[in-house]
Amino acid sequence: MFKVNQDYLKLPGSYLFSTIAKKVNDFQTANPDKKIIRLGIGDVTQPLCPTVIKALHDAVDEMAAADTFKGYAPDLGYSFLRDTIVDKVYKPLGAEVFADEVFVSDGAKSDSGNIQEIFEKDVKIAVCDPVYPVYVDTNVMAGRTGTYDPDTGLWSDVIYMPCTAANGYAPELPSEVPDVIYLCFPNNPTGATITKSQLQDWVDYANKNGSVIIYDAAYEAYISEADVPHSIYECEGARTCAIEIRSFSKNAGFTGTRLGYTVIPKDIKDDNGVTLNSLWARRHGTKFNGAPYIIQRAGEAVFSEAGQKETGEQIAYYMKNAAYIKNGLAEAGYTVSGGVNAPYIWLKTPDGMTSWDFFDYLLENANVVGTPGSGFGPSGEGHFRLTAFGTYENTVEAIDRIKAL
Ligand SMILES: *Cc1c(COP(=O)(O)O)cnc(C)c1O
Repeated sequence: MFKVNQDYLKLPGSYLFSTIAKKVNDFQTANPDKKIIRLGIGDVTQPLCPTVIKALHDAVDEMAAADTFKGYAPDLGYSFLRDTIVDKVYKPLGAEVFADEVFVSDGAKSDSGNIQEIFEKDVKIAVCDPVYPVYVDTNVMAGRTGTYDPDTGLWSDVIYMPCTAANGYAPELPSEVPDVIYLCFPNNPTGATITKSQLQDWVDYANKNGSVIIYDAAYEAYISEADVPHSIYECEGARTCAIEIRSFSKNAGFTGTRLGYTVIPKDIKDDNGVTLNSLWARRHGTKFNGAPYIIQRAGEAVFSEAGQKETGEQIAYYMKNAAYIKNGLAEAGYTVSGGVNAPYIWLKTPDGMTSWDFFDYLLENANVVGTPGSGFGPSGEGHFRLTAFGTYENTVEAIDRIKAL
């Protein structure tokens, strides 16, 4: 008889968002007349901007003519997109990134989940707590995380870096040295950021200790404050220790269209001089057949002048929601953070309620759905995440309902 991958069986419980969906569905079934407002899941709601739609249409038309038809895309990405990313994302930051270090993909979730494959099984990973669940779960699936303690919610072989009110939701340099460090700024779920000099400390730490930083910059486009870095390659020395993962999902609404990329500088080498860049290229060539031509053309259009203007307006729309949520909750007496450089607002639950108790309380009394902080890790307990991705009208109604409680 076949055996299933036993590492998969170690994953605890059901996925956070399935649990939430079930609770919400049960409540709606029991209360069919109530209008539930969802400020929970991190998906965009604004349609793709006109410039992107036009690029999609044009690329579709190319597919209809024999002389412009495209078959398999290059598995590392079309050069028109890789070159545009270097020119429009990294050059303006003064960051040194070359086109053959940019790997185009179908999104940051796959890349942030798959990237662990190019490291040896016994490497030690470090993650923030709370954390985007993909980083830990994919390492569990790879058999790298030891045993799970259901009481603490922690894995024995993972280094956790608590992000709490006490440290402003910014992780501290770990005393036990990890091989691979996952960082995500602006952060999901807390909406927190770190300054460029704080990020420089991480780069220095990684270079000193031979660690690699996997930097998830999916929310880069939401940064509004000047001292918050847009890329880890703004830091000196990042080329020898940092991988950066980017997505078109949150900056341009590609969650359903799918496009992302990962940068792996050729200067990151192991003791034997093997580059991570070469391993990821090998991995992509073997397991990935390229992001669709049509979608890569749409991604290119995001960087055009009109594309930047239109996507910028969408981000401004979400950030207006974020400001309404943050200010409204603060007025209502909640302790709130995030929401300035990220579409996430992180709040402390009132009266020491657990995250799930507060979830039920909001669902039942305000008919508003958010995400329990404990779902992102034990240090998220006593916290709650609201997102700014709804319509302005619904956001206002939801916050006004919470204020009236
Ligand atoms: C939404 C999100 C992503 C983006 O994922 P895609 O697969 O590109 O849609 C990546 N990382 C974090 C932390 C996210 O919240």
